[in-house]
Amino acid sequence: MTANFQALIGGKWIKKGSLGTFKNINPANTDDIIGEFPACGKEEVVKAVASAKEAQKKWALVPAPKRAEIIKRAGDLLSEQKEEIARLMTREMGKILIETLGDVQEGIDTAYYMAGEGRRMFGDTVPCELPNKFGMSIRQPVGVCGIITPWNFPMAIPTWKIFPALICGNGIVFKPATDTPATAVRFVEILLEAGAPHKLVNLVPGSGKVVGMAMLEHPDIRLISFTGSTQIGRVIAQKCGEYLKRCSLEMGGKNAQIVMDDADLDLALEGALWGAFGTTGQRCTATSRLILHKAIAEEFTRMLLERAAEIHIGDGLEEKTEMGPLINKAQQETIAEYVRIGKEEDKAKLILGGKALTKGKYRKGFFFEPTIFTGVKRHMRIAREEIFGPVLSILEAENLDDAIATLNDTDYGLSSSIYTRNVNKAFKAIRDIEAGITYINVPTIGAEIQLPFGGVKNTGNGHRESGHAVLDTFSEWKSVYIDYSGKLQRAQIDTDK
Ligand code: NAD
Ligand code: MN
Repeated sequence: MTANFQALIGGKWIKKGSLGTFKNINPANTDDIIGEFPACGKEEVVKAVASAKEAQKKWALVPAPKRAEIIKRAGDLLSEQKEEIARLMTREMGKILIETLGDVQEGIDTAYYMAGEGRRMFGDTVPCELPNKFGMSIRQPVGVCGIITPWNFPMAIPTWKIFPALICGNGIVFKPATDTPATAVRFVEILLEAGAPHKLVNLVPGSGKVVGMAMLEHPDIRLISFTGSTQIGRVIAQKCGEYLKRCSLEMGGKNAQIVMDDADLDLALEGALWGAFGTTGQRCTATSRLILHKAIAEEFTRMLLERAAEIHIGDGLEEKTEMGPLINKAQQETIAEYVRIGKEEDKAKLILGGKALTKGKYRKGFFFEPTIFTGVKRHMRIAREEIFGPVLSILEAENLDDAIATLNDTDYGLSSSIYTRNVNKAFKAIRDIEAGITYINVPTIGAEIQLPFGGVKNTGNGHRESGHAVLDTFSEWKSVYIDYSGKLQRAQIDTDK
């Protein structure tokens, strides 16, 4: 076994965790085992935190532009190894190669953006109310950050968290999803090769219940940055509340694309296909609901059906594949269960797909057909719950207000999209849609890293990743007052003198 499949605890790569090892399999072909990974436990978390805590003290003293050089080099290395990492990622989690290449590219973009922050990290300088007095705010590190990530963006999401955490001067304890530890290992190897201090960055693979929980309960982890389901996010928020840890949560979505009667239908069609079936629907920003203006509903549904039926399903490494497998057996069963629920609900009608693919070339993977329901109503479970698979629910709307009200009728608020050629309607949608991201004539997927990313309602807890907004998660503000008058000047009191 190579160093590729180890944990990094206290500057040492280890092959086995205190709970042994676990296997990482290819969801397109379960005979293909990517490797065995250490199943860490509380013991490793304790060591990792102690190491990160110690190393962070030195790291905090490294000038931010110097920290940035390491991050820039990590970006260069990601760029050099982009194709190789993308292939590994497709093998370990299934999405097609152009998407895994995009996932790595997002990491590269984030590296270069955050390297730039090494020479910015702006604070404020403000006039003081008293003479001969100076005021400013500066960003300081939080300390040791616990990073807990999902499997659907195995490189992009860890880089969204770890690069800003590092540029702000923090130490890292990183627990990747158990379905995608290999990409995480490659990322940490790159960080070390780029020059990150060995003891500062710790990689602790293992289960959420054991490793994740030990991180939540460790008092020296001052911050948890989590991306994953709303269900687990709640557990994390509760624990962090108990320990008064800062926590940034990016959770589920039930995103919708609206298509108005004045839209370019061909363009909206491309958007809907990419939004609903890209990454096999396993994106937090996936289009899970399509809200069609009644005047174009029938025609658009027909266009969609025709194209969705032709989607080529298979191994993501094969060039002709447009949609890969689901991540695992449990997810395949969940999707099948939602199809059953959808069929039984009121007047929803299954017009495409609905079945797991289990025969022939699909028999060794967790494949599922692109699935479309029409006649879906707002109250139905398939219109309300995050499914996280290639299942699209079509709802109809009378007009713009009805479309927006339908879009907003969800517990989530991550991404949203509207196709219209009417600028007034577009701006009304921008104002009235309740979501962290609104796209005009763009599908619900396609965020760029220089703007804030995150959601409202049950999708998030008020933090944002990406852009400069993420620095607010990974740094503490310190306000500094310097009085050079040589006497005691009392704020709010001596102001009239
Ligand atoms: P998940 O919530 O099951 O797991 C996420 C991570 O949390 C994993 O590393 C897991 O091991 C860990 N975890 C599980 N139980 C834990 C516990 N008790 N304590 C601490 N950690 C624990 O999510 P998933 O299945 O890996 O990912 C899919 C979900 O992620 C979807 O709901 C999706 O919408 C969401 N997601 C959200 C965003 C976003 O930015 N909003 C992005 C991608 C994915
Ligand atoms: Mn895997």
